[in-house]
Amino acid sequence: MPHMFIPGPVDVDPEVLQAQTQPMLPHRSREFEALYRQTVEKTRPIFGTNGRIYITASSGTGLQEAAVRNFTQTRILSCINGAFGKRWHTVATTNGKLAEALEFEWAVPVNPSVVAEAVRRGRYEAVTIVHNETSTGVQNPVQEIAAAVHEASPQTLVCVDAVSSLGGVEIEMDAWGIDFLLTSSQKCLALPPGLGLAAVSDRALEYATQVPHRGWYFDLLRLEKHRLKDSTPATPAVSLIYALDRQMDRILKEGLEKRFTRHRLLGIKVREWALGQGFGLYAPEGFQSNTVTTVINRHKLDVGALNAYLQNRGMRIANGYGPLKNETFRIAHMGETQADDIETLLTAINEFISKH
Ligand code: PLP
Repeated sequence: MPHMFIPGPVDVDPEVLQAQTQPMLPHRSREFEALYRQTVEKTRPIFGTNGRIYITASSGTGLQEAAVRNFTQTRILSCINGAFGKRWHTVATTNGKLAEALEFEWAVPVNPSVVAEAVRRGRYEAVTIVHNETSTGVQNPVQEIAAAVHEASPQTLVCVDAVSSLGGVEIEMDAWGIDFLLTSSQKCLALPPGLGLAAVSDRALEYATQVPHRGWYFDLLRLEKHRLKDSTPATPAVSLIYALDRQMDRILKEGLEKRFTRHRLLGIKVREWALGQGFGLYAPEGFQSNTVTTVINRHKLDVGALNAYLQNRGMRIANGYGPLKNETFRIAHMGETQADDIETLLTAINEFISKH
């Protein structure tokens, strides 16, 4: 099996791919409702919530849009320390929302005290934060940020993008006081792209009732009305839901503790290798992602040539994101990636280095 060490889409287990080939179901049927209900229930532990979860036929960006359309009448605060925080801000402004950008250097984690200070001054309805910045490999301290926001401005909703961490890293939505938590199917959940998943707190849903022009497709109140009937407003991606149902069985069978530990050990392994080879790490100590590592390319390797070398061996890594291209490269270690897979990859990179 080729190994995609890129931060999504990642490899999907053949059993999960196969699950998609089951016959279609009419979505307005008891069979589909039972499938939808059981699948949603299985995802609950990865969100760390007892509350509502929606599964949408969209990628994660659709759910970034859901947050800004449902929770903003006047203005929100967008925390930005990478490309996906920036995207969420752009999603807000292109929806006509007044979104203020709270920008940090890309290699610097979002600072809870700075966010608290901003929400104290600003009376924001919501704050958007990316948990794991896939563009940089910086993991933001979401638990601390949520606590700081609650203390500074209790009514402000805390919205978190966990696209490249949910299912690979512990996140406790209810315990941490997160109001909106979104992810995509193609990262740590190791599914094909095409599903968005989001959990929404009671008070966030209540807030949405006051917000006009929520649109149709991502109107949370419409999604809720249908969720209460174990269904969706529009035609769901039935095949992908079969795949999610099967993959959640596999994830729960592995056990969340074990899964999170596996990701943590993979992160340590890649970081130790990078430092051992004389590369640098882009993310600062204590904020390094356990799902994707951004390696500072101190040896000025030709990343294109490295990737061609790896692709000849059935593997693939990612170049640095946007302005970090060639200056860095990224190794993802998420989803179903095992220690042996990383070992094989790092051995091949070592071979490339020794030949160049
Ligand atoms: N947020 C983060 C942190 C991401 O890594 C990505 C995609 O890589 C997105 C949002 C966008 O997700 P999608 O491509 O599923 O719309």
